[in-house]
Amino acid sequence: PLVLGIETSCDETGVGIVRGTELLANTIASSMEEHARYGGVVPEVAARAHLEALGPTIRAALDEASVSLGEIDAVAVTSGPGLAGALMVGVGAAKALSLAIGKPIYAVNHLVGHVGADLLGDVEPLETPTVALLVSGGHTSLLLVRDLVSDVELLGETIDDAAGEAFDKVARLLGLPYPGGPEIDRAAIGGDPTAIRFPRGLTKPKDLERHRYDFSFSGLKTAVARWVEQREALDEPVPMADVAASFREAVVDVLVGKALAACADLGVPRLLLGGGVVANARLRQVAQERADASGVALRIPPLSLCTDNGAMIAALGARLIAAGHPPSDLGFGADSTLPVTDIRV
Ligand code: ATP
Ligand code: MG
Ligand code: FE
Repeated sequence: PLVLGIETSCDETGVGIVRGTELLANTIASSMEEHARYGGVVPEVAARAHLEALGPTIRAALDEASVSLGEIDAVAVTSGPGLAGALMVGVGAAKALSLAIGKPIYAVNHLVGHVGADLLGDVEPLETPTVALLVSGGHTSLLLVRDLVSDVELLGETIDDAAGEAFDKVARLLGLPYPGGPEIDRAAIGGDPTAIRFPRGLTKPKDLERHRYDFSFSGLKTAVARWVEQREALDEPVPMADVAASFREAVVDVLVGKALAACADLGVPRLLLGGGVVANARLRQVAQERADASGVALRIPPLSLCTDNGAMIAALGARLIAAGHPPSDLGFGADSTLPVTDIRV
């Protein structure tokens, strides 16, 4: 089926068009620059930006795919989790589109959509069960995917800051602009990742919170702040490259360590990465090295499908249709805390 997917859970307005697992269009508008001066995504600003960008982005996706609205067989949309106002704009537009073209609508889970990104393109079919690590500005989630459309379990998530948020906050305290990820990467060039041993959050069993593989990054952020303050108090220069490299190493170490521990504990030799933090080359490198060493097959979709996008939502919708799932009732809403076990609404 030809499926148009709409994604508006955060600051990307994403519209994708797929035919089954074939990617026809992946068009994205982002309001990131509008949030830069606030140091993070401002929900109200994001929602207004979606409202303005959605029409043109739908148009552009149809052009990119060279299809007309009349040819679309179904609409898929992110109904959660995410920013409530931002989600509502996408849900409203998707419902209107579905009604206008008289085609069914599938309301799907954003996080499961990130896993669905791996269905697209010329790749081996997604094998299950697989562990999936999703790391972005709003999420740090470890999932066990037994079946993409019927069985996804939450193994762990952050109890405070998301991994991308930690990059953004540490960049800010180092005087670097938003978004922090690429800035920290630049600052870390030539730095020694072993120079400073920053804490790895929630690595001891006694620390465990809600789930076995929960993450915590706010202690790390505080540790970096303290370390820098102490240096400054002593009037000593702050070795920026070492601080940035050591901070990044601490984040990467915890992310990869927990994901591979889950693979080993559960006997699942497959790991999938997703989310904007996958842009981090050090994360990809360490994940590849340690996955190889432990016999785990690592899959990383192209970066354009790792960051928030509409194509992954369309891909999940197409998979739901292929599996024979019924469409959503038009009465569904937006759920900012939609649990990952609710794959569709
Ligand atoms: P959501 O959480 O809903 O998926 P988001 O917009 O917060 O949405 P993305 O757009 O996927 O997430 O990713 C943005 C985040 O990724 C930011 O926090 C940014 O700092 C981080 N990021 C981007 N590039 C890098 C990098 N090279 N290293 C580390 N983090 C990065
Ligand atoms: Mg974003
Ligand atoms: Fe996302």
